[in-house]
Amino acid sequence: MILITGAAGYIGSHCALCFSEYGLDDILIFDNLSTGHIETVYELQKINPKIKFIQGDLKNKEDISSVFKKFQIDSVIHFAALSQVKESVVNPSLYYSNNVLGTVNLLNSMIENNILKIVFSSTAATYGEPKYTPIDENHPQIPINPYGSTKLMIEKIMDDYDKAYNLKSIRLRYFNVIGADEKIRIGEWHNPETHLVPNILKSVFNKTSEFKIFGNDYDTKDGTCIRDYVDVLDLADAHRLALDYLNKFNKTDVFNLGTQEGQSVREIFNISQEVTRQEINFKIVEKREGDPKILLANSSKAKEILNWKPKRTTFDSIKNAFEWEKVLFDKLKASN
Ligand code: UDP
Repeated sequence: MILITGAAGYIGSHCALCFSEYGLDDILIFDNLSTGHIETVYELQKINPKIKFIQGDLKNKEDISSVFKKFQIDSVIHFAALSQVKESVVNPSLYYSNNVLGTVNLLNSMIENNILKIVFSSTAATYGEPKYTPIDENHPQIPINPYGSTKLMIEKIMDDYDKAYNLKSIRLRYFNVIGADEKIRIGEWHNPETHLVPNILKSVFNKTSEFKIFGNDYDTKDGTCIRDYVDVLDLADAHRLALDYLNKFNKTDVFNLGTQEGQSVREIFNISQEVTRQEINFKIVEKREGDPKILLANSSKAKEILNWKPKRTTFDSIKNAFEWEKVLFDKLKASN
């Protein structure tokens, strides 16, 4: 059985979907539902009735250790974390206890039960301000916010656990994740939402929330920031390949996940107008603190070693995200 922590959230749920559709369907979801949604778990269980769900919190050692006693877990995919940069600056204690302590509890339970394989959801935020571009896996890791620090600390803890206890981990460092299930059963659902694509699309439904571009005087082709946008289902597929790699080679490693194609905020906005076939209102506002002008992945290692092939175009991802926003809008309206 595969334990997926945090699979009631955005990326974890798409990973559970991807694994299910691939026939890796013996899945246990562990989530405290603090930011994830029980509705997402129910949708996943409709798709794959074998999925089991435990509501628990990694901060409580007993919650997670009882899972390993009760179920026959072979490997772990670990997403459960808080991930809002701004919140991590204002309230770092939340991030260190939730992300770092929570992961230590998870890893300790794994070691106690002799489960020694984990795929970990890391982030490009561990690199901090880019020293060169595109960023490869050897780029210095100097995070500039507590969120990035928590993820880097976990990577370091995993190194020590490998040396001491032979725990093997694959860390996947994500760049900008967008998109939704192609059948629009699940999608991105954050509260509050801070990300670019859902914010553009939400402004189509909610006429009072005008979309804001954070700065247009960066030293880039059109003055707006450049990022590397990767589809959530392509990203999910990398987890399947990473687990396969771990099972075959029993080796700790790290991979960047991005497409290596930079797109500016303006370009994403223009594609969103194409997808929605609407003129979307926007306003240019101040730069957001801590936003580097360009973040681009060198992801050739994942392509070569894991044989990862991101397939979806940005247009496809935004199209699925738009369809999902319609579903979410109706869902939220109905519950009000
Ligand atoms: N962005 C924006 N308006 C928004 C949200 C984001 O202009 O409402 C910009 C942001 O400044 C960055 C890019 O879009 O350059 C991607 O931001 P996001 O928060 O989606 O991801 P991040 O790069 O921070 O992980």
